[in-house]
Amino acid sequence: MFGLMQDSQLLIAGIIRHAARNHAHAEVVSKNVDGSIHRYGYPALEARARRLARALARLNIKATDRVGTLAWNGFRHLELYYGVSGSGAICHTINPRLAPADIAYIVNDAGDRLIFADITFAPLLAAIAEHIKAGVRAIVFMCDPAEMPQMALPAGMDLLCYESLMAESDDDYVWPSFDERNAASLCYTSGTTGRPKGVLYSHRSTVLHAMATNVPDVFGLRAQDRVLPVVPMFHVNAWGTPYSAPMAGASLIMPGRHLDGPSLSALINQEHVTMSAGVPTIWMGLLAHLRSSGERIDTVRRLGVGGSACPRMLMQAFEQEYGVTIVHAWGMSETSPVASANAPTPDSLTLTGEAAWRVRDKQGQALFGIEMKIVGNGGMELPWDGVAQGDLLVRGPWVASGYWGNAAGSACDEDGWFATGDVATIDPSGRMEITDRSKDVIKSGGEWISSITLENIAVEHPDVIEAAIIAARHPKWDERPLLLVVPRAGAEIVPEELLKIYEGKIAKWWLPDAVIVVDELPHTATGKLHKLTLRQKYQDWLTRE
Ligand code: AMP
Repeated sequence: MFGLMQDSQLLIAGIIRHAARNHAHAEVVSKNVDGSIHRYGYPALEARARRLARALARLNIKATDRVGTLAWNGFRHLELYYGVSGSGAICHTINPRLAPADIAYIVNDAGDRLIFADITFAPLLAAIAEHIKAGVRAIVFMCDPAEMPQMALPAGMDLLCYESLMAESDDDYVWPSFDERNAASLCYTSGTTGRPKGVLYSHRSTVLHAMATNVPDVFGLRAQDRVLPVVPMFHVNAWGTPYSAPMAGASLIMPGRHLDGPSLSALINQEHVTMSAGVPTIWMGLLAHLRSSGERIDTVRRLGVGGSACPRMLMQAFEQEYGVTIVHAWGMSETSPVASANAPTPDSLTLTGEAAWRVRDKQGQALFGIEMKIVGNGGMELPWDGVAQGDLLVRGPWVASGYWGNAAGSACDEDGWFATGDVATIDPSGRMEITDRSKDVIKSGGEWISSITLENIAVEHPDVIEAAIIAARHPKWDERPLLLVVPRAGAEIVPEELLKIYEGKIAKWWLPDAVIVVDELPHTATGKLHKLTLRQKYQDWLTRE
């Protein structure tokens, strides 16, 4: 027997309709490409998204058609999130930091019909236009007519202006209702190995993920918050903040393209930001700026950090020097992305000193809706004792079941478990800790060494800006850890001195065998260390003649 409750569909348009009706006083503030500030509220955003949906229909965009975006975090990109998905089409966010050849591949693989782009990306589009002309019918620059870049496009591909399309359209549009399991947005993984793969989110997965991240022990957004998504809208939907903030009635502060420490500090202070989210590298940049300038960020209560392991020194610095709580979360494109978050519990709150920080290092408990397990050889489930390390598997309503172009269910096993490619431990309190990507793990004499633990300790050294640990071949132990560091400007690193930072913090046999000082480390398009490149270059360092 079914319950006697109503069964309305969980649709993305419902989020913005809710915000427009119930949170008319919240603000959407955007830093434009030219540095100017644009401001409006959710009612105007919702009306413009409807106007856009009308414009898309005139351009012959139909349900399930893919509409590409190449854009920074800003109000027009938000209008696309709602206008495209809300009308039943699929919003395909493209990462502009990928190589042009990869971008062309992604556009063709997705079958994008239109591409909406910030004017910053005119040169990039000019470079790939010939390679995407088979499917793309028009490039729409997200600007006023006066700002339109001049460029020649291949025959059959139109050059259009966003504000002209909007002016010619109207907002006499009613959001359609359809099955909540329909596709809403598409985002390609960064593809450190092989071709990028498309993750296809549904309306239902997007709404559930936004609700799940809005609980107090995750991002806990409230109507009084002013949220700054530093994490880009072109990478896993800015961790869902364009949905979770309007759902809660929180204001959104969109930073545009300048994400350096001084720009972020200025925007945070001008706009009284209370919460922000981004990868550790961003916060390292902000921290360095705050320390050197003496500026403060006193309105900020919480920073969500994920994408890479959050170094302990970052948590300590923000909490102790600036009174900002860090929420350490874990996830991936295939998990929408947030799947776990580290929140204090009655038992962890009784701990002090090193024991308390050891708990904070972890990536935390599964969000309600997500199940996790770790498995060893042959798929045997491992105990949650905080010691056993195994492959991390997850499942839940916002975890991918298949990649774009493949069948549903093809990316997971028959019970729905998705193999994350991460290696983790889970402790008796349910806190998961990522120790490595499975392909980055170091196997020394048959035992595993965690590269993440070693990297986090290395960046605690005041002269180190960034660190990477890779597995180097070793004649006796198979593999040994090799430490690569980028020094602070003007600092001279003496390897023996640097290695002293590990004393008392790790088992002796985990100590890196060598230190290599480099000017910079390679990163993927989503800002993660590109360890494959490093391994190719340095894996024979210990056996070289
Ligand atoms: P992406 O799909 O590009 O977002 O990358 C997802 C991967 O980033 C995960 O599989 C992890 O390897 C890594 N990652 C994300 N968050 C964290 C975190 N908090 N700590 C350690 N690694 C993380």
